Amino acid sequence: MDVQEVLHMVGGEGETSYAVNSTFQKTGTTIAMKVVLEGIMKVYNSTLPQCLCIADLGCSSGTNSLLVLTQIIDTIESVRNRLGHPLLEYQVALNDLTGNDFNTIFKSLPALYERLKKKKGERFGPCFISGLPGSFIGRLFPCNTIHFVHSSYSVHWLSQVPIGPEDNKGQIYLAKTSSSSVRKAYLEQFQKDFSVFLRSRYDELVPGGHMVMTMLGSKSEDPFSRDFCTLMELLAKSLKDLVSKEGRSNHQEIFDVNWDPNDDNHNEGFMFDNISSARNAVRCVRAVTESMFVHQFGEAIIDNLYQRYTEIIAEHLSKENAREKSKYVSLLISLKRK
Ligand code: SAH
Repeated sequence: MDVQEVLHMVGGEGETSYAVNSTFQKTGTTIAMKVVLEGIMKVYNSTLPQCLCIADLGCSSGTNSLLVLTQIIDTIESVRNRLGHPLLEYQVALNDLTGNDFNTIFKSLPALYERLKKKKGERFGPCFISGLPGSFIGRLFPCNTIHFVHSSYSVHWLSQVPIGPEDNKGQIYLAKTSSSSVRKAYLEQFQKDFSVFLRSRYDELVPGGHMVMTMLGSKSEDPFSRDFCTLMELLAKSLKDLVSKEGRSNHQEIFDVNWDPNDDNHNEGFMFDNISSARNAVRCVRAVTESMFVHQFGEAIIDNLYQRYTEIIAEHLSKENAREKSKYVSLLISLKRK
């Protein structure tokens, strides 16, 4: 499967949309914000540009796509005013794959411009925001033109399902049971994609430019340990259950955030029930993975698939200690271009 042709988060603002079901990513981005703002301040101070060029790679749609931008503008503007620096123009590119629902973002821009105008007055900007469809595994901008790159929960996506691994025994992704050659194929695909990604950003960033990425990862030295794999293994299990039932034969700084984004660990003494937690976790996974299952298996199975997935996750959460282990592990990386 060429992921880049098929993948898109569920668009719009409906019940199953990414916009409504991206609390987990929002939490991660909020945790990463301090590092993002430190990065952008370094670029601003060292380059003092007339126009600050910012790129958000894998922006998707919904409020997350503009969350970092508004914080960046607030921070830079307060420093710029304090130091009496001249007006600064902002050029912002929101990038995602061509299937992304850019329209929902575009529709929210007039309100954003209005808010900025009210809050900052006449002595601000202007700020030019545009959508840029295309894959970040490759060049997106001319050489030496970007000051700051931000990317949250996007860079872990592979460009394609690795070609050539031997049969991955009914899995849809890496699993604990995957053979070493399957693991190697996934690792090599990631290394290949990530090298092209880094090389492209190196070309596009100005000297002194900066990049901050948050992505899913693993705490363990064994990159194929439980963490993320479990969630995907359980999704594969749901699919298998469904296929057998319906008789269809188809081929198939580190921080934690809970699978259930509403279970934020701060509600001590408050017990979340496994079914609601499973539902919350599945809503997030569905908003992200639905397009690939529709492509592969068609619309008809989708509701049943995620219903079965909810049951399997609830069962998993009921096991002893499962809840402590049911977390996404995030890697936060901040890089300066020489
Ligand atoms: N940054 C947002 C969205 C994360 S979802 C947030 O934090 O909420 C991940 C996004 O990455 C998806 O919208 C997906 O389409 C996009 N993506 C995955 N691979 C990509 C690629 N090669 N090029 C551009 N975007 C990609």
